[in-house]
Amino acid sequence: VGRLVVVGGGLAATRVIEEYRRLDGSGPVVVVAAEPHLPYDRPPLSKSVLRGEHDAVPLREEWSSLGVEFRLGRRTTALHPDRRSVLLDDGEELSYEALVIATGATPRTLPGLAGDGVHVIRTLDDALALRRDLVEHGRLTVVGGGFIGCEAAASARSTGATVTLVETLPTPLARVLGTRVGAEVAAEHERAGVELRCGTAVVEARVRDGRRELLLSDGSTVDATVVLVGLGVVPDTGWLEGSGVAVDDGVLCDDVGRTSVPSVWAAGDIARWQNPRTGERARVEHWTSAADQGRAIARDLVGQGKPLDEVPYFWSDQYERKWQMLGRPEPDDEVTLVSVGPAGKGLVAVYGRDGRVTGVVGAAAPRWVMRMRSLLSEGGSYDDALALARS
Ligand code: FAD
Repeated sequence: VGRLVVVGGGLAATRVIEEYRRLDGSGPVVVVAAEPHLPYDRPPLSKSVLRGEHDAVPLREEWSSLGVEFRLGRRTTALHPDRRSVLLDDGEELSYEALVIATGATPRTLPGLAGDGVHVIRTLDDALALRRDLVEHGRLTVVGGGFIGCEAAASARSTGATVTLVETLPTPLARVLGTRVGAEVAAEHERAGVELRCGTAVVEARVRDGRRELLLSDGSTVDATVVLVGLGVVPDTGWLEGSGVAVDDGVLCDDVGRTSVPSVWAAGDIARWQNPRTGERARVEHWTSAADQGRAIARDLVGQGKPLDEVPYFWSDQYERKWQMLGRPEPDDEVTLVSVGPAGKGLVAVYGRDGRVTGVVGAAAPRWVMRMRSLLSEGGSYDDALALARS
């Protein structure tokens, strides 16, 4: 490969380059990264960074040995496959022989809710801004009980802040894990003193007596001095319009990360890779997938590509317990809860459909979750998975 250009300076980008160099990929590597920082790890942002334990956690100690040229604070605005180049927001046209798109995703916002004190968490700067407001005001309202919302609520509570979490569905995490496991998550937050307002939606933001508040669909109101909007992310593919790169809720990729345009690959939260067994395409917003996909593309770049067939894995830290998820559980799957570990403090939820296991979720149960991996990759039976959870 001549010049390798990687767009995006996050996890997938980092792993592409590390693996490419490890496999003796030579030639210049240029990274175009919208943020002003060298690559750092995102999961701590809603956990230890928000709790004030440290600032950024770099993804690498040093970059000089990898021979990478960074264009920090620069964004691509167009792709011209005919000229094999990308256009940058400062007017530079950068040519490539191979291009990897690893631009992550962008948080959704809530229409009508903007201005001071309204936050999302995607970048380090986002997390630091929210942390400053938390320290100053000692209170937080989280809109959206997904993983980021739940983690931020837990982190804010552990700094002593007053926390309210608003979620449209009956429990937090119901959209991903269903309401049975969601109820377990809810109980944990309530024990920690988070005020949960579930089954109600934000109608509007308004100012009363000089304070911003949210009016909810159940008629109640909640203080909105400091708000975190945790309503998920969307892939930002606008700059690829007209380039010929096929896009449908993310950049469409085959099972080694190739897009519809020659010499262009995509990885991480922006990409919808094909599963080599089922043929389905999915955009998986998990840390491990971004890393695996980055490495898989590097292998393809040096002529050693092979389809990526990993069981999706995700974790989330809330309070004392680590939640882990393997596979692709659906909220309306059949689910069985099993208490595990010393004093039954761990929890395993086995998800299934049509007699097959689809996923497993555990809290403080790493051994029980991880032992399901091969069963999940083979599409094993639900009964076998249950027996394994109980053993
Ligand atoms: P990113 O890490 O988002 O990197 C993409 C980069 O590209 C960004 O810096 C972006 O600014 C830049 N960019 C965007 N557009 C352009 C452009 N046009 N030109 C140049 N640069 C551009 N996953 C887990 O499995 N467990 C967790 O506990 C967990 N916690 C998380 C907590 C938070 C707060 C967040 C935000 C995510 C968390 N994740 C977690 C998800 C995980 O971090 C992501 O899946 C992973 O970071 C995706 O990596 P990526 O390289 O695809 O994108």
